[in-house]
Amino acid sequence: MYVNFGGFVPVSTVDWHGRAACTVFLRGCPARCFYCHNVAIQDGEDIRDADEIIEMIRGSRMIAGAVVFSGGEPTMQGPALAYLAAAARRMGFSVGLHTNGIFPRVIETLIKERLVDMIALDIKTTWDRYDDLLKLPASNAVKQSLSACKSAKADGSLETCEIVVTLFRGHEAELPEIAKAAGDLDLVLQQGVAAGFAPFNLKELQALAAPLGRRLRIRTREDGEVIYDPLQ
Ligand code: SF4
Repeated sequence: MYVNFGGFVPVSTVDWHGRAACTVFLRGCPARCFYCHNVAIQDGEDIRDADEIIEMIRGSRMIAGAVVFSGGEPTMQGPALAYLAAAARRMGFSVGLHTNGIFPRVIETLIKERLVDMIALDIKTTWDRYDDLLKLPASNAVKQSLSACKSAKADGSLETCEIVVTLFRGHEAELPEIAKAAGDLDLVLQQGVAAGFAPFNLKELQALAAPLGRRLRIRTREDGEVIYDPLQ
């Protein structure tokens, strides 16, 4: 089995809330978000034997109890992702996935085969703007991924699922619809950072979260991750 490799971080405390994880970046992503921070691994090739990646994961065993697959878009390499996730499982790691949801069948398979414990699914904008933002017909696929995550969370086959919203100034009005789509899943509101946009600060994001009337987590560069709970 071969993997188009994007990078490896032996231990991270920011890729899985509350967990120390190693992070495997898989190269390649069909989307073209204007704010992408991993442009260098959107394309290109660095083909490695999957067993080489498995040894990297094994090397993190003493410091990390979980592995997170990120990218790029890891589900673009479905068979390799399943192979690596199964190997991580056998080594006793919990398995997390960061995904844009464009390949719902891969997500469904990982859930069905019990190869994933945590999914962080991006919902990037309102459904009517989705295809324009990503520059590809993605909205139905992401809806299908969201639905798979909700079902799996409800029936217990997925331990943790969070919806990640990256919010940019001028797009505040999209938040209520996205939060509604997330339903009961955990919600993470992330400060969008890109040229031409003054990033929201924590206070501004808290003010935007208030009308939602629900608990969520807010992520900014300046303050890290903060829990927002209207009942506290
Ligand atoms: S989906 Fe993620 S990796 Fe792909 S272009 Fe958008 S931000 Fe970058």
